[in-house]
Amino acid sequence: MLVLEHLRAYAKTNRTALVNREERLSFSQLDAFSEAFAAWLLGRFGDDRSPVVIYGHKETAFLPCLLGALKAGRAYVPVDSVIPPGRAAEIIAEVSPRVVVNLSGLALPDAGAQLLDAAALEGILRAPLQGRVPVEHWVSGGATAYILFTSGSTGRPKGVPITANNLENFHRGFAPWLPEEGGVILNQVSYSFDVSCCSVYTGLSRGMTLFTVDGAMTEDMGELYTRLGRSGLTTWVSTPSFAELCVRSRSFEAGLLPALRRFVFCGEVLTHKLCDQLAERFPEAQIINTYGPTEATVLVTAVAVTEEMRRDPRPIPIGRPLAEVGLRLTDSDGAVTADGAEGELLILSDSVGPGYLGRPELTAERFFPDEATGKRGYRTGDLCFRENGLYYYQGRADNQLKLSGHRIELEDIESNLARVENIARAAVIPVWEGQQARYLVAFLALEREDGLTPLKRSVNIKRQAAELLPAYMIPRKFIVVEAFPLNTNGKVDRQALARQLQKDGPQ
Ligand code: AMP
Repeated sequence: MLVLEHLRAYAKTNRTALVNREERLSFSQLDAFSEAFAAWLLGRFGDDRSPVVIYGHKETAFLPCLLGALKAGRAYVPVDSVIPPGRAAEIIAEVSPRVVVNLSGLALPDAGAQLLDAAALEGILRAPLQGRVPVEHWVSGGATAYILFTSGSTGRPKGVPITANNLENFHRGFAPWLPEEGGVILNQVSYSFDVSCCSVYTGLSRGMTLFTVDGAMTEDMGELYTRLGRSGLTTWVSTPSFAELCVRSRSFEAGLLPALRRFVFCGEVLTHKLCDQLAERFPEAQIINTYGPTEATVLVTAVAVTEEMRRDPRPIPIGRPLAEVGLRLTDSDGAVTADGAEGELLILSDSVGPGYLGRPELTAERFFPDEATGKRGYRTGDLCFRENGLYYYQGRADNQLKLSGHRIELEDIESNLARVENIARAAVIPVWEGQQARYLVAFLALEREDGLTPLKRSVNIKRQAAELLPAYMIPRKFIVVEAFPLNTNGKVDRQALARQLQKDGPQ
């Protein structure tokens, strides 16, 4: 894999690969630690190539583990510690690993795998090297490089394996958007969200330093700005939501980040407002919007946002396809739509992954071999239109959405709320501001009268839901109903519930 080759090459220089608060890893340390982890995996488990689960957040050891797994020919499965241990355990059960690296400090239920905590791992990473792991062991070709878990409508996260070929294809397509060698790139996106690959693969392959921003830092904006001010950042990669949080402070401007050359956004709608704010405060920096689903490896379109696009009343475009990516828009009958007409976006590319882990039916529904191009195809569920070769995002055809940059299926939240004591059924509705979901409201049918005040009930439900779902999936408000309005198909009528919310005013 290219990134591993680059890592070896840069290990001969004295460049810094990772900055994480007070800690630093040089490329040579990152290379050596990942070698040590790979050697340990090969020594301990031999040819058993079961995936390696890494449960943590932005700990310094995360990166050498992930690269070490690849060097040992194993896929890695990054699970962020915002995911509660119960849900993490469901993910672990799906991949049946032999080893789980637990950097989170949270207790995980026994999964029959060897657990390595931070201290045990430290011993392994710092063990003296006995030669190098032969390149033949590295993950390559059609072998799985990582498995990411996204919200699934059944209430259980669904696994998306991505191969080394998929990843190399992504990297080739994206690399021209990071043209210079060296510099400092933001490492804020969770490793369990594939946008992190922009920094981890393309950034490291360009000899860039990853500058880490963790969750705790984003909760203390004073600390965040102090650290950003010392970062020397040249490239910003995040969801628009994170940049929106930053622009709330006036001090987020070119004086804070004088070396910043570009913003790369991915994962959700990039608004005109954010583009205008950034253009005003960072007049020298380029703003790049990109788009892509996990299933097609990080991103498949990109565009540098121009002043003309910012003035255009239409949404900011998601861009043009990267090299080697085919895009097609089809109507509900599968016919290709005309320019300017809305359709579902299909991706035809070597970046499209093999499918969903252990879910052949869902895979067959969404993935297909495309006869016309000979590429693998993926039906995104995203509604778009195209004009002058540019694609514009219009919304979803289903109940998937992005909330503060996180991908969520409403049914996932509903099935988990139904596991909370005394909840018979739940329907979750997003509250929108323009094209962006701002927060969630849950309508609930109870099994029996609980005699609680709405506040007490809400505290109760939130406490129980926190054991089943990450915080960003927990609705802000709960409204008890006698019965749900149904649509003509006999399903819960979400539109009627959304109308009720609008009628009742801001929650
Ligand atoms: P994920 O798999 O988490 O990357 O989420 C993929 C989904 O995020 C896509 O299918 C879109 O619905 C949405 N998305 C990603 N990038 C953008 C973008 N630039 N603009 C609007 N929506 C986006």
